[in-house]
Amino acid sequence: MPVTPIEARCRRCGDDFHLFEVRDHRRGTCPRCGWILTPDWTAKLLEDAARADIAQRHLVGALRSLRNLPGNVAVRPHTVLRNLFEEVGWQRDLVEDPVLLREELRELRRLLAAWERLEPAATGAAPEPGWLRRAARAATGRSPRPAPVAA
Ligand SMILES: [Zn+2]
Repeated sequence: MPVTPIEARCRRCGDDFHLFEVRDHRRGTCPRCGWILTPDWTAKLLEDAARADIAQRHLVGALRSLRNLPGNVAVRPHTVLRNLFEEVGWQRDLVEDPVLLREELRELRRLLAAWERLEPAATGAAPEPGWLRRAARAATGRSPRPAPVAA
């Protein structure tokens, strides 16, 4: 399955475009309105756009490969997503652009809802716990942690 291309928005015309479109044109202009996107920084824009697209393909490929390895490794998705949420610095841009913030929140909620549908329903669909877990839950009021598997 191909990786979804990274999108950006032109702050002048408000239209969205893919980073690869800017790279393909090599002029540093908005693919929609034709205005220069970053005056005096076109080379840096083209370089960073290429780096981001390549890095995304590498990251997704490596995580997909790790996910498919046999054995007992389960990469924690939130540790990858946290870096994208907190380390890139998008918060500052989103504070200054409430329209973009609303649109991004809507997309993120849509993605989160798809994951929430993966969770078994609280009643009925969950497997019945064994007698030991029921006893531990009754004694402690909490679910016990699964016992580590011997190597
Ligand atoms: Zn534009």
